[in-house]
Amino acid sequence: MKINLSGPDITEAEITAVTDVLRGRQLSLGPRLTEFEGLFTGRFGRRFAVAVNSGTSALQLCLQAMGVGPGDEVITTPFSFIATSNVILMVGATPVFVDIDPASYNITAEAIARKITPRTKAVIPVEVFGNPAGLDAVYDLALSRKLWCLEDCCEALGSEVNGKKCGTLGHAGTFAFYPNKQITTGEGGIILTDDEHIARTCAALRNQGRDGDGGWLAHQMLGYNYRLSDINCALGIAQMKRLDEILVKRARVAGWYHELLAGDARIILPPDVANGKRSWFVYVIRLADDFPLGRRDQIINRLREQGIGCSNYFTPIHLQPFMVKQFGYKHGDFPITEHIGERTIALPFYNNLSRSEVETVCKALREALD
Ligand SMILES: *Cc1c(COP(=O)(O)O)cnc(C)c1O
Repeated sequence: MKINLSGPDITEAEITAVTDVLRGRQLSLGPRLTEFEGLFTGRFGRRFAVAVNSGTSALQLCLQAMGVGPGDEVITTPFSFIATSNVILMVGATPVFVDIDPASYNITAEAIARKITPRTKAVIPVEVFGNPAGLDAVYDLALSRKLWCLEDCCEALGSEVNGKKCGTLGHAGTFAFYPNKQITTGEGGIILTDDEHIARTCAALRNQGRDGDGGWLAHQMLGYNYRLSDINCALGIAQMKRLDEILVKRARVAGWYHELLAGDARIILPPDVANGKRSWFVYVIRLADDFPLGRRDQIINRLREQGIGCSNYFTPIHLQPFMVKQFGYKHGDFPITEHIGERTIALPFYNNLSRSEVETVCKALREALD
């Protein structure tokens, strides 16, 4: 028996969409790119969408378009995927971490406010595991303090808080389409913004610095090749058209885990979202606070030996070897992040996981906890 940690949900619609592009003549910068971007501006009500080749590229281009660079500080979370803070380093700025709220695993407006200095130029909040709690307050803080807010909503496609969609809670927001995300393009990402300067700069930067009408060999700025091909976009279009169905499937799987694991004092289940809606990205449980340290990794190994994919999302960013080397971070710098990072287990989670597979995982988990 093997139950993977994640897996894509590809139907005949996706296969047909991709092969249609392959049978045509335009494999990149074609109509599928425009159509894919249009599905996002339409769903989110934002003026511009710029698709790129990864979520990381999307974040990096936004920071560049916001003019963030050497000498600037960017406040963000140490409890995220590494890309969130890597992009700050990529543009030559300095990441400033604030510890997370143990209830949501997100950084809060209050904690961010305490770290603002005259050098702070931007904040990058993350809806960790799709939980949108507090992200609207972070955007309000950024607006009132005249800071850029770059919403890393790469885990939150479909989440909402206080009636606002994730993807609209910053000057720009980014989604990612690696195969473990809510929808996939194989690899890919997208920028959403209402800011014409950000949209136009990101579109130029993804395409070798070409800006609008200048022509193919006119480069207005130093740019990259961060384009997303029409093959990827066709896959993304077919997935976006199924997004609501996909979100329902994921919520159903999360519901089964809730039902089967509730009431076990040894584990803390993902929190419900007050005043909002969580789009399920992963299903991450946490061992109770009094659980012996180190047991978590034993449990993960036990499950893996039985063919059950699971993982330790996330190792705190500040304790990654290259961050320790560059900045001298140590254990104790962000205690809540560390406490939670040592106790989380991501369980198998994808659209087509069956109820009996979830039962198998929960049974194996309980045995490993005993
Ligand atoms: C997935 C993800 C990204 C971007 O990932 P790519 O692999 O570059 O597409 C960025 N931030 C967070 C929080 C993510 O989960």
